[in-house]
Amino acid sequence: MNPDSSAPTYEHADAIRSLGLFAEVVCCFWKEEPNMREVFEMVESEVIYIVPNFISEGYFCQEVLPRELRLEGPVTRRGTKTIYYCDPVGIHANMMRLLLQRADEIAPGVPRGETSLVIVGHGTSLNENSTKAIQDQVKLIREGGHGFAEVVDAYMEQAPLVAEWAQMTTSPNVVVVPFFIADGLHSYQDIPVLLGIMEETGAALSEGGSFGNNPHALHGRQLFYSNAIGTEPLLAAVILDQVADFNAKHGIEVPTGEVRGSAMEAKLAGMLAEGSVQVGEALIQANGDGGWVVTHVKDAAAVASGAGDWERWGRAEDARLIARNTEEGKFRAIHSAPTMKGGWRLDLADVAAVRRALDYLYPAALGVWMGMEAGEVKGTPLRQYLGRQTGMYRFSNGVTDEQIPAMAVKECGGGKCLRRIVWPLNEGVPLSEVAAEKTGAEVGYANERAGATCVPLVCIEPCPVIVGAARKLARANFEAKAAAEAAAAG
Ligand code: SF4
Repeated sequence: MNPDSSAPTYEHADAIRSLGLFAEVVCCFWKEEPNMREVFEMVESEVIYIVPNFISEGYFCQEVLPRELRLEGPVTRRGTKTIYYCDPVGIHANMMRLLLQRADEIAPGVPRGETSLVIVGHGTSLNENSTKAIQDQVKLIREGGHGFAEVVDAYMEQAPLVAEWAQMTTSPNVVVVPFFIADGLHSYQDIPVLLGIMEETGAALSEGGSFGNNPHALHGRQLFYSNAIGTEPLLAAVILDQVADFNAKHGIEVPTGEVRGSAMEAKLAGMLAEGSVQVGEALIQANGDGGWVVTHVKDAAAVASGAGDWERWGRAEDARLIARNTEEGKFRAIHSAPTMKGGWRLDLADVAAVRRALDYLYPAALGVWMGMEAGEVKGTPLRQYLGRQTGMYRFSNGVTDEQIPAMAVKECGGGKCLRRIVWPLNEGVPLSEVAAEKTGAEVGYANERAGATCVPLVCIEPCPVIVGAARKLARANFEAKAAAEAAAAG
């Protein structure tokens, strides 16, 4: 729903990649593509470090991520691979440096001795670890002699409440920093309202200068409000700190030695040697300069003729922006929806860059397809997937076996998503014929084809579209059953 929530994570990954310390640097998300199942098909290294870009060590880092990433503990051995699971960024002591830097940035020249620093979190009674990360930072800054008149923690949903900031602080200047990973509705809308900067929540608030109009004169003080701490570029260094700390704690030597060749790049290079390659609506062709040009397939003729007034791009990472919005500017939450805009060309020097660009245009598509061809990747049964859901989605498995194939056609078919569904209903039980529109071997391609070698788009695990639909059906089933029982009882 919100493209800004993944943006800082991608930016930190770009910063780390540019350092050249790792053979591969990729991101995956809980509610956005690529998911935690697909991400292992995007990397080929034998040693994988996973750093949760999460603020606390709570429920998600302790339960959801290990389950979704199929981890057995800090160290998981899977086939020939070793997977290291590091601590989340938010609990690293060096987060303090970010908080100090951010406070100075948003209140330049304001003496710390006349300033109260308020670090704001969400707060929840469900997991005490969710506030511990913030309390630890408050303690570090207070005891570190950094010169603030006072440093306090505050929360949206538990005491001490951020809405009471004026009573909690005494200094003439108050700097408020949200301890969140990204700027979402909480930092754009909810906290500004609780602080009194904005009067009510609404769509306009995200463009309404929540962060830009400092200071705000409120309660006889100067209030400075920052955006989420996770947007601070220094966070990339904290991600690396967590990797270094993991190595130190577990006595791991930094892996050295020769970097193996990439099977994905070799496959792509082989296909491109034969001619152009199409993945979804993206077409890759030789660009005449010894490199490759990626465009929308509908622009193939214009590229071939040398005509066209292009929006020009030149880095693999640019593919992320290209894929982000439709022609009309709408956020494309599902990359495999046939809504990629046209009119752009992405010129890349080598196949390695093309492979990375493809993972932004169609996350994990090449790796999943190759894994399936090799018989190493198969779909996750829907029942198993729904059984892993939590929170408001934990009842989604109440959808019936009979409802599921039609649901898949309704939610994923009719041109909504190009992927071919390969997940079965249950282990060994495929979706029925009702879902043939989404499961046939001819599915997985764009309607528009350029006569190129085509890589199919495959769905190995349902996306949130299916979970949401299953939850709705399960709820209706539950209500219908309750109504029938009530009627029977007279
Ligand atoms: S669940 Fe449906 S909409 Fe989601 S990625 Fe798979 S095929 Fe596409």
